[in-house]
Amino acid sequence: MNVIILKFSEQNSSGESVETAFIRNMHDQRIAIIHDVKRMLEYYQALGFDNLPLSATPFLNTSTGSAVSKNDGLKNVREEIGDCQRCKLSKGRKNIVFGAGNANARIMFIGEAPGRDEDIQGEPFVGEAGMLLTKLIEKMGFKRDAVYIANIIKCRPPLNRDPEEDEILSCRAFLDKQIDVIAPECIIALGRIALMTLMNNNKIRITAARGNFFEYKGIPVMPTFHPAYLLRNPKDKWLTWADVQKVMERIQNTNS
Ligand code: URA
Repeated sequence: MNVIILKFSEQNSSGESVETAFIRNMHDQRIAIIHDVKRMLEYYQALGFDNLPLSATPFLNTSTGSAVSKNDGLKNVREEIGDCQRCKLSKGRKNIVFGAGNANARIMFIGEAPGRDEDIQGEPFVGEAGMLLTKLIEKMGFKRDAVYIANIIKCRPPLNRDPEEDEILSCRAFLDKQIDVIAPECIIALGRIALMTLMNNNKIRITAARGNFFEYKGIPVMPTFHPAYLLRNPKDKWLTWADVQKVMERIQNTNS
């Protein structure tokens, strides 16, 4: 065992020995940290949380196939899409937004459709709503590139209108193939369109469904509010946080 011997002989300006001042300082710092932690816990408690974000490591899905074969699988799906002209959205798009993230992800987020920023960059959720989604993912305890993010449709609808039935139908098979390849342990459906499409139910309401598990192709689906809705209604962020906590708990349980 290493022992560090500190020798203090001098006094500070208030007549206190340097040793006493050092110990008092350490004590004050510890108390300040305890107060900070306490305040943070009280804040989360006030928001209605009864547990803390879980550690996300290891957070990759190694149960089915290897990363390499899953990457190849996704590459094949992307190749099959090609320079897609299957629906009218192809006329106005800049880029096909295929999806992004880890082929071995345990959680897959599915949004609605690319917006302006996504169309320009060819990546899902990179605009303002995307920044909020990234924050949520990080608050869940892991990096954005540990999950997989896709949309119901892969091309931007004009003026960000809702995707139409024929557009959803044209894209559906490719999203299904992405889900099959990734085989996530849970899908988080972001908003009304993702939920209605995955559940094949136009009557289902996000406000009623959120927070409850559904199933798609045998995979648990947790619907929650779309980040764009949360930007307009920040007071509901805690509900989405509660929803994703359920996903984390479920995944944690399948780990143990
Ligand atoms: N909204 C979505 O639903 N998807 C995106 O990729 C961006 C915004």
